[in-house]
Amino acid sequence: MKFAIVSRGDERSNKITAKMKQYLIDFDLTYNEESPDLVISIGGDGTFLEAFRRYVDKLETTAFLGVHTGHLGFYTDWTSEEIEKLVIEIAKTPFHVVEYPLLEVIIRFEGEEKPHRILALNETTIKTVEGSVVFDVQIRGEHFETFRGDGLCISTPSGSTAYNKALGGAILHPSLEAIQVAEIASINNRVFRTIGSPLILPKHHTILLKPLQKNSFIIAIDHLTESYSNVRSIQCRVAKERVRFVRYRPFPFWNRVRDSFVTEIKKFD
Ligand code: NAD
Repeated sequence: MKFAIVSRGDERSNKITAKMKQYLIDFDLTYNEESPDLVISIGGDGTFLEAFRRYVDKLETTAFLGVHTGHLGFYTDWTSEEIEKLVIEIAKTPFHVVEYPLLEVIIRFEGEEKPHRILALNETTIKTVEGSVVFDVQIRGEHFETFRGDGLCISTPSGSTAYNKALGGAILHPSLEAIQVAEIASINNRVFRTIGSPLILPKHHTILLKPLQKNSFIIAIDHLTESYSNVRSIQCRVAKERVRFVRYRPFPFWNRVRDSFVTEIKKFD
């Protein structure tokens, strides 16, 4: 089996990376950054998002696994103290894979520029540098509302526990092939009106945002933010691609949610 490791880059993560790489090579696994079967991220959720981004063009053949070097992350199940155990699992046990849905974002531009297609593991957020965004929001080709506000966040089920949650969105189980649209500070008064509730769209339902005023936006895809000018529309739906997570032991989604958000961390005096 071929593997690659993506480290957060801090001293602790790099040390664990070097140790794990050597252990896996000692077990006759091959280190290959070009076409790995297994990508191990060592750091936090941000490192996992970076590992996903690096191998987003190889999703069919690549599976991901996260080791955390700080606190328990949402995509990082293994602790750095468990790496000997994990290495033995990787070397000796065929891995079981669970697949989660992704978000497809297509940005189209005025003029002849090629559309930009991006996959998100967590979400996309669409904002502007100053003032409000104003969009004609279409769902399945029909006008739904005119949105005015700071922006919109469109998330995957596994991303529903990230930015979406902070916006009051629901947590979606990743077995649901859906995307969620959550408002970021919408303007609602006697003149402007938006739905005000998060929307959950099933597979094959597309949301299209058409700018009505400015056409320059700050668009974040997971941990990466870029500015785009001359935007004609932004289209989002469930992607046909899926992300594959390696599981050597069960870690049900709701346990992950509980351990990340509900279980109190014991404080010591
Ligand atoms: P970061 O360092 O600002 O960390 C953001 C936090 O989000 C971290 O605690 C991380 O563990 C957590 N996180 C990431 N993905 C998660 C998920 N799927 N479920 C639950 N928690 C998750 O930024 P980063 O590490 O580069 O991560 C980028 C992510 O940060 C974005 O995808 C976005 O979801 C999130 N974010 C959240 C807010 C907010 O909650 N107000 C604002 C901006 C970005």
